[in-house]
Amino acid sequence: MPIYEYRCDDCKKDFEKLVFAGEADGITCPECNSPKVVKQMSAVSFMGSSIGTCAIDGPKQFS
Ligand SMILES: [Zn+2]
Repeated sequence: MPIYEYRCDDCKKDFEKLVFAGEADGITCPECNSPKVVKQMSAVSFMGSSIGTCAIDGPKQFS
């Protein structure tokens, strides 16, 4: 189940939302209830730890 990051275009709040298939169109801001939310494509929930590990371990392995 994918967790997407969203940013509210009205109050600029960042939040994460677990989105099920077919539900992505009904996302609203939990802070101000605005439907003007923008999906962030960073995929932090999936890639964050991998990128961090790579960035830390990579240079050491090659030096
Ligand atoms: Zn908002």
